[in-house]
Amino acid sequence: MSNTPPKQGPYRPPNSPTTPRYSGIRTFMRLPYVTDLEGIDLAIVGVPFDTGATYRVGARFGPSAIRDESFLLKPYNPALKVNIFDACSSVDYGDLPCMPGYLPEAHKLIQDSAAHVFASGATPIFLGGDHSVSLPLLRAAAAKFGPLALVHFDSHNDLHQGYFGGKDTHGTPFRRALEEGLIDATRSSQIGIRGSLYDANVEREAAEAGFRVFTAPEMHQHGLAWVLEEVRARTGNSLAYLTFDIDFADPAFAPGTGTPVIGGFSGAQCLELVRGLAGLNFVGYDLVEVLPAHDPAGTTSLLAAGIVYEFMSLAALQRSASKG
Ligand code: MN
Ligand code: MN
Repeated sequence: MSNTPPKQGPYRPPNSPTTPRYSGIRTFMRLPYVTDLEGIDLAIVGVPFDTGATYRVGARFGPSAIRDESFLLKPYNPALKVNIFDACSSVDYGDLPCMPGYLPEAHKLIQDSAAHVFASGATPIFLGGDHSVSLPLLRAAAAKFGPLALVHFDSHNDLHQGYFGGKDTHGTPFRRALEEGLIDATRSSQIGIRGSLYDANVEREAAEAGFRVFTAPEMHQHGLAWVLEEVRARTGNSLAYLTFDIDFADPAFAPGTGTPVIGGFSGAQCLELVRGLAGLNFVGYDLVEVLPAHDPAGTTSLLAAGIVYEFMSLAALQRSASKG
Protein backbone atom coordinates (compact mmCIF):
# COMPACT_ATOMS: atom_id res chain seq x y z
CA MET A 1 0.00 0.00 0.00
CA SER A 2 1.27 3.46 -0.86
CA ASN A 3 2.59 5.79 1.80
CA THR A 4 1.15 8.76 -0.09
CA PRO A 5 -2.34 9.87 0.98
CA PRO A 6 -4.90 10.09 -1.81
CA LYS A 7 -5.10 13.52 -3.46
CA GLN A 8 -8.89 13.68 -3.14
CA GLY A 9 -10.70 11.75 -0.39
CA PRO A 10 -11.98 9.73 1.12
CA TYR A 11 -9.11 10.49 3.45
CA ARG A 12 -7.79 8.14 6.10
CA PRO A 13 -4.45 7.60 7.87
CA PRO A 14 -1.63 5.72 6.11
CA ASN A 15 -1.45 1.96 6.62
CA SER A 16 0.66 1.41 9.74
CA PRO A 17 1.82 -2.17 8.99
CA THR A 18 3.64 -0.73 5.96
CA THR A 19 4.76 2.65 7.35
CA PRO A 20 6.02 2.95 10.95
CA ARG A 21 3.75 4.81 13.37
CA TYR A 22 6.47 7.21 14.45
CA SER A 23 7.14 8.37 10.89
CA GLY A 24 5.59 11.23 8.98
CA ILE A 25 4.50 14.74 9.96
CA ARG A 26 2.77 15.22 13.30
CA THR A 27 -0.92 15.30 12.42
CA PHE A 28 -3.58 13.61 14.57
CA MET A 29 -3.32 9.83 13.95
CA ARG A 30 -1.12 10.76 10.94
CA LEU A 31 -4.22 11.88 9.04
CA PRO A 32 -3.57 13.81 5.84
CA TYR A 33 -3.15 17.56 6.43
CA VAL A 34 -5.91 18.99 4.26
CA THR A 35 -7.40 22.50 4.38
CA ASP A 36 -9.98 22.14 1.60
CA LEU A 37 -12.90 20.67 3.52
CA GLU A 38 -15.19 19.96 0.58
CA GLY A 39 -16.55 16.42 0.96
CA ILE A 40 -14.84 15.92 4.34
CA ASP A 41 -16.83 14.31 7.17
CA LEU A 42 -14.51 14.85 10.13
CA ALA A 43 -11.81 17.46 10.79
CA ILE A 44 -9.33 17.67 13.65
CA VAL A 45 -8.64 21.38 14.26
CA GLY A 46 -6.05 22.86 16.64
CA VAL A 47 -6.76 26.08 18.56
CA PRO A 48 -3.38 26.94 20.13
CA PHE A 49 -4.45 29.89 22.28
CA ASP A 50 -3.99 30.35 26.05
CA THR A 51 -4.32 34.07 26.75
CA GLY A 52 -7.53 33.25 28.66
CA ALA A 53 -5.64 31.31 31.33
CA THR A 54 -5.77 32.83 34.84
CA TYR A 55 -3.12 30.66 36.51
CA ARG A 56 -0.57 28.52 34.65
CA VAL A 57 -0.16 29.25 30.96
CA GLY A 58 1.05 26.91 28.21
CA ALA A 59 -2.11 25.28 26.82
CA ARG A 60 -1.16 26.86 23.49
CA PHE A 61 1.10 23.83 23.13
CA GLY A 62 -1.81 21.43 23.75
CA PRO A 63 -2.73 20.68 20.13
CA SER A 64 0.76 19.61 19.12
CA ALA A 65 1.22 17.50 22.29
CA ILE A 66 -2.13 15.74 21.76
CA ARG A 67 -1.19 15.01 18.15
CA ASP A 68 2.14 13.58 19.34
CA GLU A 69 0.35 11.09 21.60
CA SER A 70 -2.18 9.98 18.96
CA PHE A 71 -0.01 7.71 16.81
CA LEU A 72 -0.88 4.41 18.51
CA LEU A 73 -4.59 4.83 17.87
CA LYS A 74 -5.98 2.45 15.24
CA PRO A 75 -9.02 2.79 12.96
CA TYR A 76 -11.38 0.28 14.61
CA ASN A 77 -12.93 1.07 18.00
CA PRO A 78 -14.03 -2.27 19.48
CA ALA A 79 -15.87 -0.65 22.41
CA LEU A 80 -18.22 1.19 20.04
CA LYS A 81 -17.90 -1.32 17.17
CA VAL A 82 -17.06 1.26 14.54
CA ASN A 83 -14.29 1.73 11.99
CA ILE A 84 -13.94 5.50 12.01
CA PHE A 85 -12.45 5.87 8.55
CA ASP A 86 -14.90 3.54 6.82
CA ALA A 87 -17.60 5.92 8.00
CA CYS A 88 -15.79 9.27 7.76
CA SER A 89 -13.39 10.84 5.31
CA SER A 90 -11.16 12.43 7.95
CA VAL A 91 -8.41 15.03 7.92
CA ASP A 92 -6.23 17.13 10.18
CA TYR A 93 -7.05 20.73 9.25
CA GLY A 94 -4.06 22.11 11.14
CA ASP A 95 -4.44 25.02 13.55
CA LEU A 96 -6.78 28.01 13.46
CA PRO A 97 -5.03 31.40 13.31
CA CYS A 98 -4.47 32.85 16.79
CA MET A 99 -3.08 36.09 18.22
CA PRO A 100 -1.36 35.40 21.53
CA GLY A 101 -1.85 38.22 24.04
CA TYR A 102 -4.87 39.84 22.36
CA LEU A 103 -7.93 38.01 23.61
CA PRO A 104 -10.87 39.79 21.91
CA GLU A 105 -9.02 39.94 18.60
CA ALA A 106 -7.96 36.30 18.85
CA HIS A 107 -11.48 35.19 19.73
CA LYS A 108 -12.79 36.97 16.64
CA LEU A 109 -10.19 35.23 14.46
CA ILE A 110 -11.04 31.85 16.02
CA GLN A 111 -14.77 32.43 15.53
CA ASP A 112 -14.41 33.47 11.89
CA SER A 113 -12.11 30.60 10.99
CA ALA A 114 -14.25 28.08 12.90
CA ALA A 115 -17.30 29.37 11.00
CA HIS A 116 -15.52 28.39 7.81
CA VAL A 117 -15.07 24.85 9.19
CA PHE A 118 -18.73 24.55 10.24
CA ALA A 119 -19.88 25.92 6.86
CA SER A 120 -18.09 23.07 5.08
CA GLY A 121 -20.38 20.45 6.62
CA ALA A 122 -17.49 18.60 8.27
CA THR A 123 -17.85 17.74 11.95
CA PRO A 124 -15.01 19.52 13.76
CA ILE A 125 -13.11 18.29 16.79
CA PHE A 126 -11.15 21.22 18.21
CA LEU A 127 -8.01 20.77 20.30
CA GLY A 128 -7.39 23.63 22.75
CA GLY A 129 -6.01 25.81 23.97
CA ASP A 130 -7.49 27.14 27.20
CA HIS A 131 -11.23 26.90 27.82
CA SER A 132 -11.86 30.47 26.69
CA VAL A 133 -11.70 29.17 23.10
CA SER A 134 -15.02 27.37 23.56
CA LEU A 135 -16.78 30.75 23.48
CA PRO A 136 -15.78 31.72 19.91
CA LEU A 137 -16.27 28.10 18.85
CA LEU A 138 -19.82 28.15 20.26
CA ARG A 139 -20.46 31.50 18.59
CA ALA A 140 -19.53 29.95 15.25
CA ALA A 141 -21.55 26.80 15.93
CA ALA A 142 -24.67 28.64 17.13
CA ALA A 143 -24.53 31.00 14.14
CA LYS A 144 -25.08 27.96 11.95
CA PHE A 145 -27.20 25.69 14.15
CA GLY A 146 -28.98 28.00 16.64
CA PRO A 147 -28.83 27.54 20.43
CA LEU A 148 -27.19 24.24 21.33
CA ALA A 149 -27.47 21.75 24.16
CA LEU A 150 -24.13 21.82 25.96
CA VAL A 151 -22.55 18.70 27.41
CA HIS A 152 -19.73 20.09 29.53
CA PHE A 153 -17.13 17.95 31.31
CA ASP A 154 -15.05 19.95 33.77
CA SER A 155 -14.12 20.27 37.42
CA HIS A 156 -15.20 23.94 37.13
CA ASN A 157 -18.49 25.56 36.06
CA ASP A 158 -16.67 28.27 34.06
CA LEU A 159 -19.62 30.57 34.77
CA HIS A 160 -17.80 33.45 36.44
CA GLN A 161 -18.83 37.00 35.54
CA GLY A 162 -15.23 38.08 35.02
CA TYR A 163 -11.74 38.26 36.44
CA PHE A 164 -9.33 41.12 37.16
CA GLY A 165 -11.81 43.63 35.74
CA GLY A 166 -12.02 41.81 32.39
CA LYS A 167 -14.91 39.82 30.93
CA ASP A 168 -13.22 36.93 29.15
CA THR A 169 -10.99 34.25 30.66
CA HIS A 170 -11.07 30.46 30.71
CA GLY A 171 -13.35 30.78 33.78
CA THR A 172 -16.12 32.69 32.00
CA PRO A 173 -17.01 31.15 28.59
CA PHE A 174 -20.36 29.63 29.56
CA ARG A 175 -21.56 32.78 31.35
CA ARG A 176 -21.02 34.65 28.08
CA ALA A 177 -22.52 31.80 26.04
CA LEU A 178 -25.68 31.96 28.19
CA GLU A 179 -25.89 35.76 27.92
CA GLU A 180 -25.55 35.54 24.15
CA GLY A 181 -28.13 32.74 23.79
CA LEU A 182 -25.61 30.35 22.23
CA ILE A 183 -26.67 27.49 24.47
CA ASP A 184 -29.98 26.27 25.84
CA ALA A 185 -29.42 25.81 29.57
CA THR A 186 -32.56 23.71 29.96
CA ARG A 187 -30.98 21.08 27.69
CA SER A 188 -27.44 21.41 29.05
CA SER A 189 -25.39 19.54 31.63
CA GLN A 190 -22.21 20.28 33.56
CA ILE A 191 -20.49 17.10 34.64
CA GLY A 192 -17.75 16.53 37.23
CA ILE A 193 -17.92 19.85 39.09
CA ARG A 194 -15.93 19.87 42.32
CA GLY A 195 -13.47 21.71 44.48
CA SER A 196 -13.35 24.79 46.64
CA LEU A 197 -15.16 28.01 45.69
CA TYR A 198 -14.78 31.72 46.45
CA ASP A 199 -18.07 31.62 48.37
CA ALA A 200 -21.52 29.98 48.42
CA ASN A 201 -22.80 32.47 45.83
CA VAL A 202 -20.81 30.72 43.10
CA GLU A 203 -22.80 27.53 43.60
CA ARG A 204 -26.07 29.44 43.75
CA GLU A 205 -25.28 31.39 40.57
CA ALA A 206 -24.45 28.19 38.74
CA ALA A 207 -27.74 26.63 39.82
CA GLU A 208 -29.64 29.78 38.80
CA ALA A 209 -28.05 29.64 35.36
CA GLY A 210 -30.32 26.66 34.73
CA PHE A 211 -27.82 23.93 33.91
CA ARG A 212 -28.15 20.45 35.33
CA VAL A 213 -24.99 20.19 37.43
CA PHE A 214 -23.54 16.79 38.29
CA THR A 215 -20.98 17.25 41.04
CA ALA A 216 -18.11 14.80 41.34
CA PRO A 217 -19.15 13.67 44.86
CA GLU A 218 -22.66 12.78 43.70
CA MET A 219 -21.25 11.05 40.61
CA HIS A 220 -18.93 8.97 42.77
CA GLN A 221 -21.88 8.13 45.00
CA HIS A 222 -24.53 7.31 42.38
CA GLY A 223 -22.36 5.92 39.57
CA LEU A 224 -21.80 6.73 35.93
CA ALA A 225 -24.80 4.84 34.52
CA TRP A 226 -27.08 7.19 36.46
CA VAL A 227 -25.21 10.24 35.13
CA LEU A 228 -25.43 9.02 31.55
CA GLU A 229 -29.13 8.30 31.80
CA GLU A 230 -29.80 11.80 33.15
CA VAL A 231 -27.56 13.57 30.62
CA ARG A 232 -29.03 11.65 27.69
CA ALA A 233 -32.58 12.41 28.79
CA ARG A 234 -31.79 16.08 29.23
CA THR A 235 -30.00 16.46 25.88
CA GLY A 236 -32.64 14.43 24.04
CA ASN A 237 -32.44 14.79 20.27
CA SER A 238 -31.37 18.46 20.39
CA LEU A 239 -28.37 19.57 18.41
CA ALA A 240 -25.55 19.49 20.93
CA TYR A 241 -21.95 20.55 21.50
CA LEU A 242 -19.54 18.57 23.66
CA THR A 243 -16.81 20.44 25.52
CA PHE A 244 -14.29 18.48 27.59
CA ASP A 245 -11.90 20.25 29.96
CA ILE A 246 -9.16 17.72 30.71
CA ASP A 247 -9.22 18.80 34.38
CA PHE A 248 -12.43 16.73 34.60
CA ALA A 249 -9.98 13.84 35.00
CA ASP A 250 -8.19 13.49 38.32
CA PRO A 251 -4.71 15.08 38.43
CA ALA A 252 -3.34 11.55 38.90
CA PHE A 253 -4.44 10.85 35.32
CA ALA A 254 -4.12 14.37 33.90
CA PRO A 255 -1.47 16.37 35.77
CA GLY A 256 -0.71 18.51 32.72
CA THR A 257 -3.37 21.17 33.04
CA GLY A 258 -3.68 24.76 34.21
CA THR A 259 -5.97 24.47 37.24
CA PRO A 260 -5.99 20.86 38.50
CA VAL A 261 -8.58 19.75 41.10
CA ILE A 262 -8.35 16.54 43.11
CA GLY A 263 -11.26 14.12 43.56
CA GLY A 264 -11.82 13.57 39.86
CA PHE A 265 -12.15 10.69 37.42
CA SER A 266 -9.94 7.99 35.96
CA GLY A 267 -9.08 7.47 32.31
CA ALA A 268 -11.46 4.49 32.19
CA GLN A 269 -14.28 6.61 33.61
CA CYS A 270 -13.65 9.35 31.04
CA LEU A 271 -13.93 6.81 28.23
CA GLU A 272 -17.06 5.19 29.68
CA LEU A 273 -18.82 8.53 29.95
CA VAL A 274 -17.96 9.70 26.43
CA ARG A 275 -18.86 6.33 24.89
CA GLY A 276 -22.14 6.44 26.79
CA LEU A 277 -23.14 9.53 24.78
CA ALA A 278 -23.31 7.60 21.49
CA GLY A 279 -26.41 8.51 19.51
CA LEU A 280 -26.70 12.13 20.67
CA ASN A 281 -26.64 14.76 17.91
CA PHE A 282 -23.31 16.51 18.35
CA VAL A 283 -22.43 19.19 15.82
CA GLY A 284 -18.94 19.69 17.24
CA TYR A 285 -16.53 18.80 20.02
CA ASP A 286 -13.62 20.35 21.84
CA LEU A 287 -10.96 19.05 24.21
CA VAL A 288 -9.22 21.85 26.11
CA GLU A 289 -6.74 22.77 28.86
CA VAL A 290 -3.95 20.28 28.11
CA LEU A 291 -0.75 21.96 29.33
CA PRO A 292 2.25 19.92 28.17
CA ALA A 293 4.85 21.74 30.31
CA HIS A 294 3.28 20.11 33.40
CA ASP A 295 2.92 16.72 31.73
CA PRO A 296 6.36 15.13 31.99
CA ALA A 297 5.38 11.60 30.89
CA GLY A 298 2.79 12.68 28.33
CA THR A 299 -0.02 10.99 30.30
CA THR A 300 -2.38 13.96 30.01
CA SER A 301 -1.91 14.23 26.25
CA LEU A 302 -2.27 10.47 25.89
CA LEU A 303 -5.59 10.58 27.73
CA ALA A 304 -6.67 13.61 25.69
CA ALA A 305 -5.83 11.82 22.42
CA GLY A 306 -7.84 8.80 23.58
CA ILE A 307 -10.85 10.96 24.43
CA VAL A 308 -10.62 12.69 21.04
CA TYR A 309 -10.61 9.22 19.47
CA GLU A 310 -13.90 8.50 21.24
CA PHE A 311 -15.31 11.78 19.88
CA MET A 312 -14.27 10.61 16.39
CA SER A 313 -16.02 7.31 17.04
CA LEU A 314 -19.23 9.07 18.12
CA ALA A 315 -19.08 11.20 14.97
CA ALA A 316 -18.51 8.08 12.83
CA LEU A 317 -21.53 6.34 14.38
CA GLN A 318 -23.59 9.47 13.74
CA ARG A 319 -22.49 9.63 10.07
CA SER A 320 -23.19 5.92 9.59
CA ALA A 321 -26.66 6.31 11.06
CA SER A 322 -27.47 9.33 8.89
CA LYS A 323 -26.22 7.58 5.74
CA GLY A 324 -28.59 4.77 6.63
MN1 MN B 1 -11.55 23.26 34.52
MN1 MN C 1 -12.96 24.69 31.99
